[in-house]
Amino acid sequence: MLEMKFDFDGLIQLLACNLYSEKRVFIRELIQNAHDAIMRRRAKEGDAFVGKISIETRPDELRFVLRDTGIGMNKNDLIEYLSTVGKGATRIARKEQDIEGLIGLFGIGFLSAFVVASRVEVRTRRLGEQEGWVWQNSGNKDYTIDPCEVSEPGTTVTVFLKGEEEKGVIHKEKVQKVIRDYTDFLKVPIHLNGSSEPINVMRMPWEQEGRSRQEISLDTRIYLEKTMRDSVLEAIPVQLPELNTSGVLYITRSRTFQRQLPRAVRLFVNRMFICEKETDLLPEWAQFINGVICSGDQTLTLTAARDNFIRDENLQLLQDALGNLVVKHLEELSQSNPKRFSEILRFHDLSIKAACWYHDEFFDKFADLLQWRTNKGEPTTTYTGEFTHQWRTLSQVLEELPHPEGKSQPLPYFSDTNAANQYFQMADAAKTLVVDASYPFEQNLIKEYEKRAKGKIKLVAVDREEDPNVFQELHEQADVKLKRLAEHMSQVIRPGGTGRIRVEARYFEPTELTAMIRSTEESTGGMKARELLSDPNTPEDLREMAQEMMRMSHNSALRLILNAGNPMVRLLAKQSFDNPNVLDIMLGIYNSSILYNQELMTPQNARIFYDDFQKLLRRDLDYIIEKADLQRQAEDLEKQRQAMQKNQKEGKKPKHLIFFLMTPLENTYQPFIETVREVIENHFGCQLFVASDKQYEDTVIENVRYHMDQAHSFIAEVTDANPNVMFELGAARFDLRERPIVLMRKNNNQYLPVDLQGRIYVDYGEKEGQELAEYLETQLRADERIKPLLNKTGRERYISPKFLKAVTKMQYLEDKIWQILAEQYPTKEAWQTASLDRVKEILGENDDLAEPVLNRIKQGISGMSS
Ligand code: ADP
Ligand code: MG
Repeated sequence: MLEMKFDFDGLIQLLACNLYSEKRVFIRELIQNAHDAIMRRRAKEGDAFVGKISIETRPDELRFVLRDTGIGMNKNDLIEYLSTVGKGATRIARKEQDIEGLIGLFGIGFLSAFVVASRVEVRTRRLGEQEGWVWQNSGNKDYTIDPCEVSEPGTTVTVFLKGEEEKGVIHKEKVQKVIRDYTDFLKVPIHLNGSSEPINVMRMPWEQEGRSRQEISLDTRIYLEKTMRDSVLEAIPVQLPELNTSGVLYITRSRTFQRQLPRAVRLFVNRMFICEKETDLLPEWAQFINGVICSGDQTLTLTAARDNFIRDENLQLLQDALGNLVVKHLEELSQSNPKRFSEILRFHDLSIKAACWYHDEFFDKFADLLQWRTNKGEPTTTYTGEFTHQWRTLSQVLEELPHPEGKSQPLPYFSDTNAANQYFQMADAAKTLVVDASYPFEQNLIKEYEKRAKGKIKLVAVDREEDPNVFQELHEQADVKLKRLAEHMSQVIRPGGTGRIRVEARYFEPTELTAMIRSTEESTGGMKARELLSDPNTPEDLREMAQEMMRMSHNSALRLILNAGNPMVRLLAKQSFDNPNVLDIMLGIYNSSILYNQELMTPQNARIFYDDFQKLLRRDLDYIIEKADLQRQAEDLEKQRQAMQKNQKEGKKPKHLIFFLMTPLENTYQPFIETVREVIENHFGCQLFVASDKQYEDTVIENVRYHMDQAHSFIAEVTDANPNVMFELGAARFDLRERPIVLMRKNNNQYLPVDLQGRIYVDYGEKEGQELAEYLETQLRADERIKPLLNKTGRERYISPKFLKAVTKMQYLEDKIWQILAEQYPTKEAWQTASLDRVKEILGENDDLAEPVLNRIKQGISGMSS
């Protein structure tokens, strides 16, 4: 039999490079041995024995000393365990005495000291024995054991460093950090360089030991915030006695998505730190969870390097248990504090939905807790800046939606990105609910949800199918114009970004929405493709793909649904489609729907909208200007009316003669009226008022009275005894100023009031036109009461609007202008002093014609016989 041999240097090399690649771990290993020795002594003497580890670090002397009050070693222990690689009393103690919390196992940790040491010295005295021993090794196979004086049971290990380059490892701060990092929770006090207080906390923040829940959760919180890299959104206590595991998990405040963020799951085994980024402890879906887990080494099997654990079925058990804890916690929170639950879900919306999609087992548990953006369900009258949505679970949505008996329950949703505006507004108006499934994973998840409901629910994609509850057909006859409008728009609108657009009209709520756009996936794709093709930076392979996409989308169309209930749409349907302005409005409707469906906003669309809007804005501006002009003209008229009234009130009498004609105003009397006007205005140079000439006053009676007041004489046509004429006649006859009244009639076989019988009439029979004019002129000139009026000296000659129009030969100016001019300058004399500025003012936008107008009138007047 031969003994296997090994090379000490080679072994240390192996340890240094593979197991203990970090030099500082030798401190961990020595502390751990001291800890185990104290635990073994405690097992003997009872829990009253606390024990103590004291560390002295002297970097300047290249010396590191670690003293424990543990069980110590006798000569046999030194030979059998300390000096035998791969063998230790710890392992035996675990088995034979069943001591809890021992850390050592492999019997190699002590060797780690030689990674940094040129020499190691161990002074020790076994508990219950008197003899002390000093063990020395200078970094090779040979060691010495000599008896020596040791005052108390326990062990002191002194490490003499190889040289200056090892010094850094044992700087006080470095040592302190190793203690805090690895051994903070060990239940043995550790003192450094004579500190009076231990520098390890010993107790895990979530360990109870007679503390209240609040204290625990506060401590836990402080510990996490102090030692973890990220921040805690919600802490989830972990107490799994059956798996020898405790600790705390938390929902991180850092948003994680698809493992882009470093995760932090810190693991302690037997209270000793193992590793810090071990996400395998948690189920894969738990991307938004970090934490601190403390397990026993019965649950997790460690590697010899003590920086990882073996993947075995125990790990699987632990993983499942931790995952369940998270789901259970969230479930409970959804009941006890729904508001906070929703906030958390929203914060991690994307990663939670991703987790649901990638991990069936998570979706199994979480499907009904997931929250979705839905509309409010009530019509919102005020727009608050942001589109108002409400988060609901799918089961909440289903609860609020109608459930037709014996059929699957319809669940409306849409997946068009950025289309929430229009669908939410419509659903609100219809007082129903719709689910926004347009964010990543959501469409998949909602379909999966439907699948799992096994026919109980039926998805309705409101952006792809037409929901008859939302869209109502046009009325066959009443809405022909709308149908025509839709057909016309289909033909004339050539969208910039896509191939074609189909326009249809339907009734849907809310009626404020003029139209809505629906895009198929292909049409959106087409738009994106066009965008890629127009970008010079698009690489060649992408360009090819875009071309392919364009080809595919060639036959797909956007759909524009006009809202038949919208007042503007209805008004538009009544306009003439040949009018280019009307076409602009059609484009405007299309544009605004695209804008409302933000997804379709491509740079090309933006450019087209910009141009179209400019046009509409320009039109609006024109309209404003025109309206202001009209307003000004109305004001002018009003001013003149007031001026006339003022003249009248001040008793200023016109200097020309005014005849008031009382006559029925029906069309059959128009030739008669015109003839009388011809005689009075052109032959006599007087003004003729007919009650309807100007509607200055609000009521007919006021109007009539105003004119009657001004008149010098009256002519009444009484053939038909027209009530208005009779009324006016009555008024004139009771006038105290005794103005002459001339009664006219076609014949005398009519019934007339007693009062008017037996008076003198001008019977003009069937006379018309020229004949009537001549007859009328002779009759009036012969009238004894009229004659003095006509012959009165100083009477000025009236210039009628008709004359002004004729003499200026400007037929195209509105009649209104001649009327205003005639009012301003009613007589020949008034025209002599007419001001060019005033004429300009009256001509308004035609003011450049003022001079010729004035000249021609003056010429016309001077050529007139007086
Ligand atoms: P392990 O700790 O895995 O058993 P080590 O190489 O660290 O292996 O230690 C070997 C053995 O040396 C231990 O099992 C223990 O019997 C003994 N030993 C080491 N350090 C001490 C100590 N401070 N007090 C008592 N015994 C010790
Ligand atoms: Mg050890």
